[in-house]
Amino acid sequence: MSKKDNNSHCSFCGRSDKDVNMLIAGLSADICDSCAEQAYQIVKESFEAKKQSTLGIDRDSLPGPKQIKEYLDGYIIGQDNAKRYLSVAVYNHYKRILQEKNDDIEIEKSNIILVGPTGTGKTLLARTIAKLLHVPFAIVDATVLTEAGYVGEDIESILTRLLQAADYDVAAAERGIVFIDEIDKIARKSDNPSITRDVSGEGVQQGLLKLLEGSIVNVPPQGGRKHPDQKMIAVDTKNILFVCGGAFDGIERKIAQRLNTMVVGYASTKNNAQVDRENLLQYVAPQDLKSYGLIPEIIGRLPILTYLDALDRSALRRILTEPKNSIIKQYVKLFQMDNVELTFDDAVYEYIVDKAIEYKLGARGLRSIVESIMMDAMFNIPSSNEAKLHISKEYAEQQLEKSQMLKLKNSQ
Ligand code: ADP
Repeated sequence: MSKKDNNSHCSFCGRSDKDVNMLIAGLSADICDSCAEQAYQIVKESFEAKKQSTLGIDRDSLPGPKQIKEYLDGYIIGQDNAKRYLSVAVYNHYKRILQEKNDDIEIEKSNIILVGPTGTGKTLLARTIAKLLHVPFAIVDATVLTEAGYVGEDIESILTRLLQAADYDVAAAERGIVFIDEIDKIARKSDNPSITRDVSGEGVQQGLLKLLEGSIVNVPPQGGRKHPDQKMIAVDTKNILFVCGGAFDGIERKIAQRLNTMVVGYASTKNNAQVDRENLLQYVAPQDLKSYGLIPEIIGRLPILTYLDALDRSALRRILTEPKNSIIKQYVKLFQMDNVELTFDDAVYEYIVDKAIEYKLGARGLRSIVESIMMDAMFNIPSSNEAKLHISKEYAEQQLEKSQMLKLKNSQ
């Protein structure tokens, strides 16, 4: 491209090069600076309109609860109860957003709380729903939040994350999903709130209230207090869906107390006999969250309460290979990109699951174990001429032991 100097015309507006600031020459057409600028505006507006239409979910494109659950089934193993609750809640939430403004019956917001052991798919569920709906999604850890003015992050920083995920498109952020992890860690520290100020517990819960119920919040776009003179952005949280998750360690005891049954014991009246004491979490109720230390106002604003099951051996085995983007499928893909066909002995899968259970790492551990087994191959294969790679159990054992030896050596 160059600036033409004699007798050229803009092919769009027809002005000669003398009448414009700059004329950019193409192969068989020229364009002047003001036409180029206009073209840029047209392209930008059309992109923005497209973005709006994908975010402005309409009644026809909104998937029903069954479709939402089917989609979740593709990525998350088990957790049927949580999937059903979540599908209905999400469906109702977006129906509520689409409700006509002048309707007398105003549907209330249905924020969700998921109770279940760590690494059982709480974050994955929320993330997968956001992916299905093409809405911005942010994850925040409740443990870093403190009451305004104390060391830690202000509650508004939650919305900073969402704005960042939405590329600062406020309208998009206002329909997004926020996942607040470790909500159990901001439980009230003691039953008597007046002894000391509980700035990372009850104080945060109080601060969260206004976000959860829906209000206009001034958000620092860069987050934190490092940029004191940044211009605040007003974000309306009315249509943001909040999904909270927590392990609530020990809540089984509170549930057991409420059910008037003991976790360990011989008492077995007729009523007790019907209670599945191995899995008390399935009976979790709002009262239990209150006994655990969540304030009633917070519980009231998280009306959908559901639980996740601990992952047993067979669930771990399925997680390894079944989800659409399972760990094993990801590795097969990685090798395929180097034109190498990667296959595994079934015994390798069993071995990986055994190790994940042995290390008490749950589903999170599966990835790091596979990573250790595959490290050498991932290093060597791209520069070799191999077209196939088969992983046997012996090879897997050898590689995992080797990587553990290395880690031991490095830590010495
Ligand atoms: P948490 O319950 O602590 O939020 P995550 O959703 O972050 O757990 O799960 C951690 C990882 O474990 C996920 O990225 C996923 O790979 C895997 N995982 C956990 N539970 C499941 C499940 N039910 N189905 C498929 N993968 C799972």
